[in-house]
Amino acid sequence: MRGEMDYYETLGVSRDATQEEIKRAYRRLARQYHPDVNPGDKQAEEKFKAINEAYEVLSDPEKRRAYDLFGRAGVRGGAAEPDFGFSGFGDIGDLFDLFFGTGGARTETSRAQRGNDLRVDVEVTLEEVALGTPKTVQYARFETCTRCGGNGAEPGENPVTCSTCRGSGRVRHSQHTLLGTISTVVTCPHCRGEGKVISRPCTQCRGEGRVRQMVERTLRVPLGVEDGTAVQFLGEGDAGRRGGEAGDLFVVFHVRPHERFERDGAHLRTRLTISFAQAALGAKVKVPGLSEDIELEIPPGTQPGSVFRVSGKGLPHPRQGRGDLLVQVNIHVPTHLNEVQRGLLRQFAAACGERFTDVPEEEKSFFEKFISGLKGEKG
Ligand SMILES: [Zn+2]
Ligand SMILES: [Zn+2]
Repeated sequence: MRGEMDYYETLGVSRDATQEEIKRAYRRLARQYHPDVNPGDKQAEEKFKAINEAYEVLSDPEKRRAYDLFGRAGVRGGAAEPDFGFSGFGDIGDLFDLFFGTGGARTETSRAQRGNDLRVDVEVTLEEVALGTPKTVQYARFETCTRCGGNGAEPGENPVTCSTCRGSGRVRHSQHTLLGTISTVVTCPHCRGEGKVISRPCTQCRGEGRVRQMVERTLRVPLGVEDGTAVQFLGEGDAGRRGGEAGDLFVVFHVRPHERFERDGAHLRTRLTISFAQAALGAKVKVPGLSEDIELEIPPGTQPGSVFRVSGKGLPHPRQGRGDLLVQVNIHVPTHLNEVQRGLLRQFAAACGERFTDVPEEEKSFFEKFISGLKGEKG
C-alpha cells in the first residue's frame, strides 16, 4: 500500500505547494500521528512513517525535483532501495523543531531564478546498449540571450534600483480599520519583486534574459543501461532567468525489445534449434550473438529445452563485468524424409529395440493433401 502513495497526497498539499506550506502540513500531521500521542496504534504509526518519508523527499528541493520528474524511482537513485525508514527518535533537532516551531521563512529577493529541469526520452537498441554507441539528441531549451548576456537590458542600459520599493522587492501596505492599523507586506507591483527595473528591455529576449532554442547534444548510451533509466546531465536544462543557475537535463533511455534476445538484467537469453543428430551425437555449433557469432559445444545426449550458459557473452554491466548468454536448445524434427533417410531411421529404431509400424509415404501424402484441403490451399 505504501508503494502506491503519492507524497503530495500524503501531506495533503498541492503539487505547487511552497516549502513553507509543506513544512506546515508536515508539522500538523506529525503532531497528530506521533507515536507518543497514539501509543500502540499501528495505523497511526504507519501513517507517521509515511508522513516522514514524504517530508524527507518534498522538503529537499533536489529530491523534490527528481520526484516531480520521475516519481519515486527518481528519488531512489537507481536500483538501491531508499533509506527513508523512520529511525526512532535519533533526530532530536528535527523533533524539537517539530514541536516548538523554530523554522523561519526563507527570503527570496534575488532577481535570478534557476532554470527548469528538462527531460528527453531516447530509444535505443540492445546492440547500442552493448556497445555504448554515441547518440545525438535534439531538444528545445532556454539559452542565455546573446544580446544582453542574460541581464535582460538593451546593451548600454543597466538595470536600475526600483524606485517604488528601493530595491527590496517588497512594499508595505497600511490600512486603517476599526481595529487599528493593519500593515501587510506585499510583492512590489512595479518591479514584480525583483528590486530592479529595466528602462529599455533587450529587444532579442524582451527582458527575459534568455531565449528558447533547439540544441543538439551527443551522448554515449551508458554501457548496459536498463530500460527506463534516467541519466542526469548537470546544467544542460533551461538557462536560469536573468542570470540564474541553469537547470539539469534528464535523459531517459528506453531499450527497444529485440527479436532474438530477451534480457534479464545483464544476462541475455536466446533460443537455438539444432538437429536430432547434433543433439544425440554432440556438436560444435555457432550461436548468433549480439555483435558476433559465439561457439557453443553441445554435449552428446542433449535434451530439448536444455539451457547452456556462455559466461561473459551477455551485456556489459557498469560494475560487475559482463553478464552471460543463456542458450535454450530446441530440437528440430524433420518434416520431410526421403526413402534413404526413412530406411536409416527404421534401422536405427530397430537397433534401439523399438517395434512399430510407421506411416507409409503414400498415406502420409494423403494426410498432407487432406490438411492442405482444410487450409484451402492447392497442390
Ligand atoms: Zn536579451
Ligand atoms: Zn520594486
